Amino acid sequence: MTEKVGVYICHCGSNIAGEIDVEGLAKWAKENLDGVVVARDYKFMCSSLGQELIEDDIKNEGLTRVVVGACSPHLHGKTFRRACANAGLNPYLCQMASLREQVSWVTEDKELANTKAKALISGAVHRVQYQKELTATEVPVNPNTLVVGGGIAGIQASLELADAGYQVYLVEREPSIGGHMAQFDKTFPTLDCAACILTPRMSDVGAHPNINLLSYSEVEEVSGYVGNFDVRLRKRARYVNEDDCTGCGICIDKCPKKVIDDVFEAGLGYRKAVYRPFPQAVPKFPVIDTESCIYFERGTCKACEKFCPTGAIDFEQEDTLLDIKVGNIILATGFDLFDTRRIPQYGYGRLANVFTSLEFERLCNAAGPTEGKVVMRDGVTQPKSVAIIHCVGSRDVRYNPYCSAICCMASLKFGHLVMEKTGAEVYSFYIDLRTNQKGYEEFYNRLLEEGMHFIRGRVAEVTDAARMPGEEGKLIVQAEDTLLGTQRRVPVDMVILMAGLESRADAHDVALKFGISCSMAGWFTERHPKLAPVATMTDGIFIAGTCQGPKDIPATVAQGAAASASVQSMITRGKVEIEPIVATIHEENCSGCRICNDLCPFNAIDFDEEKKVSVINQALCKGCGTCVAACPAQAISGAHFSNDEIIAEIEGLLFDTVSGNGAKAAEPAKDSVPA
Ligand SMILES: Cc1cc2nc3c(=O)[nH]c(=O)nc-3n(C[C@H](O)[C@H](O)[C@H](O)COP(=O)(O)OP(=O)(O)OC[C@H]3O[C@@H](n4cnc5c(N)ncnc54)[C@H](O)[C@@H]3O)c2cc1C
Ligand code: SF4
Ligand code: SF4
Repeated sequence: MTEKVGVYICHCGSNIAGEIDVEGLAKWAKENLDGVVVARDYKFMCSSLGQELIEDDIKNEGLTRVVVGACSPHLHGKTFRRACANAGLNPYLCQMASLREQVSWVTEDKELANTKAKALISGAVHRVQYQKELTATEVPVNPNTLVVGGGIAGIQASLELADAGYQVYLVEREPSIGGHMAQFDKTFPTLDCAACILTPRMSDVGAHPNINLLSYSEVEEVSGYVGNFDVRLRKRARYVNEDDCTGCGICIDKCPKKVIDDVFEAGLGYRKAVYRPFPQAVPKFPVIDTESCIYFERGTCKACEKFCPTGAIDFEQEDTLLDIKVGNIILATGFDLFDTRRIPQYGYGRLANVFTSLEFERLCNAAGPTEGKVVMRDGVTQPKSVAIIHCVGSRDVRYNPYCSAICCMASLKFGHLVMEKTGAEVYSFYIDLRTNQKGYEEFYNRLLEEGMHFIRGRVAEVTDAARMPGEEGKLIVQAEDTLLGTQRRVPVDMVILMAGLESRADAHDVALKFGISCSMAGWFTERHPKLAPVATMTDGIFIAGTCQGPKDIPATVAQGAAASASVQSMITRGKVEIEPIVATIHEENCSGCRICNDLCPFNAIDFDEEKKVSVINQALCKGCGTCVAACPAQAISGAHFSNDEIIAEIEGLLFDTVSGNGAKAAEPAKDSVPA
């Protein structure tokens, strides 16, 4: 081959240079690999000086191919491609070898690491010589955005986009927006009233001319690609006509059917069959819960219809389907709480005065079922002593190994509220106290001063079996005090379980619907934890708030704003580049077997019924190669992953085992599929 290859080895500080002889590697590449005309090492190749080295060599040495041995293409592939493009070289004639993630970070034996580094560089040099010039295509970006989930994350993202002048569809599956925050009384660490922060933002959403709020609705189907998504929404029947309803609430007053409210009131309060989750709900229109409604059950009643002054009740209403087009999507679907019944030894559901954290939030709330009075299950008795148990379902390999991030602070908040409202003694059973955000440590110190007791140790059991004097009629919390090195039994009147945060029960289904990935625990996966925390691997789909992982309100709001900013930058650019590393089906070879259709993880393959062949939507294709490998007729080729390139790379990787290799680029494979 006649290509002129430049090889650039990055030290990555000491990340790579600490394990690999970077200077020796560059020298070896220049002396041993066919086509290499220049090879250099540099401290930080991704810096502007590092990129200039590459650019200068392309211009001065006439390089036609570039290989960079550094971190991963995932992190800096675009950086080095851009450097090539700046110097006039097609960016797809650049190849990276991952010396950090695949060698120095994972191979402890230095000799082995150096041999492996040579293999990767050799593989990249061999392959790059077969790479073809590719050109990215541009597609226009629809300026409308879909936000899924109307908690504080979705509210923030929607308002920022709408205030910037862009149209937003905010889809919330409950009858009102607000999410979990709407259930709280006060928020740590400032103890400001949740409703005072949230409800004005909720009304702004309801009244904003640029926000189309679709509550009691869900996304049914998503198709399309970045800049151009087609979304089908299902707006569930409320049985209340929104055009006629004034939100007066007379129907709610007149409805004779009362049911336990398991959602908003966490099972502690009641609502009617026709209801609004809470008085400040946005939108203000009630919904009829058909499972509780007497009319839907027995065909009689219709009290709400009789008394509604505007004739807004409509028992014939049906779900409606709505098709919309958007350029970007922000997922802000939030979290579920760990089901504390899964730890039976803590007694929830069996011992009356064991409460969950969310139940306690409702107890404390001035608008809650007890009007803010902290009382036991009998509804009247104030507790004289309360135990708060941390990490229930968190930091425990049997349930969730991760930290739920907010429970330490929420338990300090609860301690303060219990003491303020009842004067009770409060015992906090913790593993570690995590107070690492602004104002958090100060709040902890405040609670120490207020007299909250802290016992370091995981609770073994909560029981009502009294064994010692003073335990009769109490709940006894049994724990090892790891600071004192003793077993303790603390008798109390009330126990609050700080239930961990979990991903939504349907998180995996939602991820599948939107073509994004999620962790084993169901948290949506960001493109990069540090550099792209609200982007996903699917262009045009962003995530914000606790659907990405446990976090407090400030971090949730910051992510909502960040997702909105990312979308705004796409809208203002007006166009988006589509990667040309995609697969192509060669119609003439396709037998129409459809094997590839269901295998594509990005739903990029359709079947052309007329021609009886499969067709790839190149805007959706991510070039993963699944279909290329699966096609029994070898009718699919992957740009940037042709047989020639892959075989050359393999031969390069085997530089010290294939006889005569190391100094020669591989010959093209005979049975190549057309590129
Ligand atoms: C007991 C407790 C107390 C807390 N106290 C504090 C505190 O004092 N201070 C603090 O900073 N943080 C606190 N937090 C953390 C706080 O609750 C979260 O940071 C915040 O609520 C996260 O907001 P979110 O929008 O990400 O999620 P959520 O509040 O869960 O909102 C998500 C929304 O999306 C909707 N949704 C879900 N799936 C779909 C779907 N498929 N389609 C349409 N809509 C969907 C949901 O109905 C919901 O309205 C506390 C948490 C708990 C559990
Ligand atoms: S009585 Fe009629 S107008 Fe009033 S809230 Fe109910 S449905 Fe709406
Ligand atoms: S018809 Fe249903 S919603 Fe209306 S008042 Fe009767 S029970 Fe309540």
